[in-house]
Amino acid sequence: MTEENINPVLRNGTCAPRRPTRSINIGGIAMGADAPVRVQSMTCTRTGDVEATLGQIRELVTAGAEFVRVTVNDSAAVEALPRLVAESNTPLVADVHYDHKMALAAIAAGIAKLRINPGNIGSSDKVREVAAAAADAGVPIRIGVNRGSLHSRYQELAMTDPAGALVQSALDEIETLAGVGFNDVAVSLKSSHPGEVIEACRRFAKVSDVPQHLGVTEAGTLLAGTAISIAAMSVLLSEGIGDTVRISLAADPVEEVRAAYHMLSALGLRQRYARVVACPTCGRVEVDVMALAAKVEELALQLPADRVISVMGCIVNGPGEAKGADLGIAAGKTKVAIYRQGKLHRTVDKKDLESVLMEEVERLK
Ligand code: SF4
Repeated sequence: MTEENINPVLRNGTCAPRRPTRSINIGGIAMGADAPVRVQSMTCTRTGDVEATLGQIRELVTAGAEFVRVTVNDSAAVEALPRLVAESNTPLVADVHYDHKMALAAIAAGIAKLRINPGNIGSSDKVREVAAAAADAGVPIRIGVNRGSLHSRYQELAMTDPAGALVQSALDEIETLAGVGFNDVAVSLKSSHPGEVIEACRRFAKVSDVPQHLGVTEAGTLLAGTAISIAAMSVLLSEGIGDTVRISLAADPVEEVRAAYHMLSALGLRQRYARVVACPTCGRVEVDVMALAAKVEELALQLPADRVISVMGCIVNGPGEAKGADLGIAAGKTKVAIYRQGKLHRTVDKKDLESVLMEEVERLK
């Protein structure tokens, strides 16, 4: 599975040019400036459980995560970090709250990026101490401002202007770090309310070139959380705002990565997976499109990104979609037509469809 040029059927040109931002380097992976919009996720294992965490990191990388965040919240996590860093197949980001000593330990362990929430990391002195260590190690810092944990000094503003409070908090923290000569930063302005995220990110983009990590925090379960996240992020990305995305779901984090790539490909920004076109089915449907499309989609994860497969339930739209795909089916009353590269390839009995279709998908590798 490799990333390739945007497939012509997905290239829609609806996004504004990317906003110019400064570039940061996360363990050899560039983010910001001309780099592609990066896709990331976070493990949900206990970080101290090295085997489980490494296993999930590998699953995320297979799905396309370009860096992976792990929480560093206790001594077991700190002790696990050196081995996680050594054995991970992608750069790791340490997520630290409340305890700046954990941040210092994570930097010493060799993490590639640090996420701190200055609202809860402690005094400015502690933030400066972390910045000095990060500068020595060449580790960028994401200032993760979150509506739910804004510092008390922004709470009054947040009552009337929540987006403004997020932006002001981020700018103040950036200034604190800049004051000690640390500019290797990214920022996230998160809320569980998509409208606040859109407003805050837009306003921040007008006044700063710091690269933005986009996300709706605590977005929800697989379906609702994906919809809410994409509602906010696609608005921003279409305006050229956003340098990395994380879709935060109460679900398997692999789904976060998949959803992020589907969003980026729909916007014409990146394409990681082959496209599976499937009809929604209706009373005319002649085969089990839902089950077939789900199986095809799993297999298609292994295909080159520029492939298109269509799974259509009847002859109304089936032949038309199939002709525009590398591989497509159009189901009739007794037989199913299989198209390859826009031409009718063969017809099969319904009972043979699943096995034949899977073989045909394999041939697209
Ligand atoms: S392709 Fe056929 S079965 Fe599928 S939604 Fe359209 S009319 Fe219904």
